Amino acid sequence: MAIETVGIVGAGIMGSGIAQIAAVAGLNVEMIDIDDEALRKGMATLTSSLERLVAKEKLGPAMRSEALARIETSTDYHRLANVDLVIEAATESAKLKMQILRQIEASIPAKAIIASNTSSISITTLAATLSDASRFVGMHFFNPVPLMPLVEIIRGLQTSDATMGAIRELTMRLGKSPICVRNAPGFVVNRILVPMINEAFFVLAEGVATAEEIDTGMCLGANHPIGPLALADLVGLDVCLSVLDVFAADFGDSKYRACPLLREFVAAGRLGRKSGRGVYCYA
Ligand code: NAD
Repeated sequence: MAIETVGIVGAGIMGSGIAQIAAVAGLNVEMIDIDDEALRKGMATLTSSLERLVAKEKLGPAMRSEALARIETSTDYHRLANVDLVIEAATESAKLKMQILRQIEASIPAKAIIASNTSSISITTLAATLSDASRFVGMHFFNPVPLMPLVEIIRGLQTSDATMGAIRELTMRLGKSPICVRNAPGFVVNRILVPMINEAFFVLAEGVATAEEIDTGMCLGANHPIGPLALADLVGLDVCLSVLDVFAADFGDSKYRACPLLREFVAAGRLGRKSGRGVYCYA
């Protein structure tokens, strides 16, 4: 099916980024949030992101203005009445997302697809709240959305081939590279990435090397653009910890046990860049 109008529910870090790339790709965007201030902030963020692209001559000024003109914002879910797809990018809570998904399904045309940008909640579980689970899929973007090229497309148990195909096509139209994965905790990237970050905390806690040496080792020895501890600070130590706790609970495997040092940093409020201090200090 052709996707021309997309609803984005949640105007935060991820929702505003998705709205930006969708509008630049020529789609009409209805961005919904419960909070007017979040909508204002989301528009301000994506507007300055577009300005930076214009300043770097990666986007013409006319394209910027056209993209902004394609985005409507509202707190009213009835604005989703004519969309072909809704991407849910609201706060990460299973209970809240299920309520939002039912609200979305009641507001959209019968043929429209619903995608969730959840990073940790089971797509199959979320799908079960809908009356037509075959039109539901995971669409996991990475932060910052305008810069990160990957989208994980997650097939829940009930997702149809037609839904997978339409989302794959749209992902490429958005200028992103898709990988198609089956529903499982952490999908692919976080399943591999977060245990690696956890291992870096164990190495640090055992005094094998300093944080700087661990990060230098992984940058120069494994060709990573950023070391695992610096990356943990960027992602948020609390986010890393909650992902590990989900893995430990869902897989029931002790290999996902969070490093006590990581847990202690989080308890101390050392959450990474966002709190001014994590593994490193950000004065
Ligand atoms: P955020 O807190 O920046 O934004 C969430 C927005 O959802 C807020 O503006 C909030 O007002 C809105 N919201 C809450 N309840 C709502 C409702 N009932 N209806 C409409 N809007 C509502 O969060 P974020 O970082 O943008 O994350 C959004 C989703 O994307 C989460 O599921 C998260 O796990 C996922 N995700 C985040 C990242 C990341 O690095 N931040 C990366 C990949 C995926």
